[in-house]
Amino acid sequence: MEVADIFHRHGAAWRAAHAGHLSLGQLKVMAAIETCRTAALGGHVEACEDCGHSRIAYNSCRNRHCPRCQGAAAREWLAARQADLLPVGYFHVVFTLPAEIAAIAYPNKAVIYDLLFRAASEALLTIAADPKHLGARIGITAVLHTWGSAMTHHPHVHMIVPGGGIALDGERWVSCRPGFLLPVRVLSKLFRRLLLAKLTEAHAAGQLQFFGDHAGLSEPRAFAKFLAPL
Ligand SMILES: [Zn+2]
Ligand SMILES: [Zn+2]
Repeated sequence: MEVADIFHRHGAAWRAAHAGHLSLGQLKVMAAIETCRTAALGGHVEACEDCGHSRIAYNSCRNRHCPRCQGAAAREWLAARQADLLPVGYFHVVFTLPAEIAAIAYPNKAVIYDLLFRAASEALLTIAADPKHLGARIGITAVLHTWGSAMTHHPHVHMIVPGGGIALDGERWVSCRPGFLLPVRVLSKLFRRLLLAKLTEAHAAGQLQFFGDHAGLSEPRAFAKFLAPL
């Protein structure tokens, strides 16, 4: 079964039940996935010049969210990342937006997802460069997930980090201790601090929008109070 099959069967009813809560972008993605490689997008005839055999092929939607269209792109991405791998062990680090911030991220996706990436990467790079810890410049591959396994809005970044980095003088490779990259508590403390500072900056620059229950947060003091317990 594919996502398109689920949309064909339940899409219309789901859209009716959530009318008014779906963005134009979301509706466009659903329409693209539902019509991908069906007669709705038109088609073309592919014919073999040698044997004369022909068949009708329906056009693809090419939407970046369509699993049918993106399968090949995902395989190419994976192969290219595998080619980047160093002959060392790798660590998996996850940074998650606190639930309170996830709630205001929904109408501020571009700004807050960008802050999430920057706070997470700055935290990792800073602690790794600290001579008290690794004392090296590390590399990171980061991927954003906006949904958790329970299919709720749960933005987090997965980071794949090699178990070592280049010494700050650029002269040699510094390996981490076996099985231990960086102290998680130190990382998460710095991540929170950076994230909250960046949110405050974005708020001051007028980059955040608030709706519904959160409308009052456009006032700077209310926003500071909202962030204070985090
Ligand atoms: Zn498609
Ligand atoms: Zn994930």
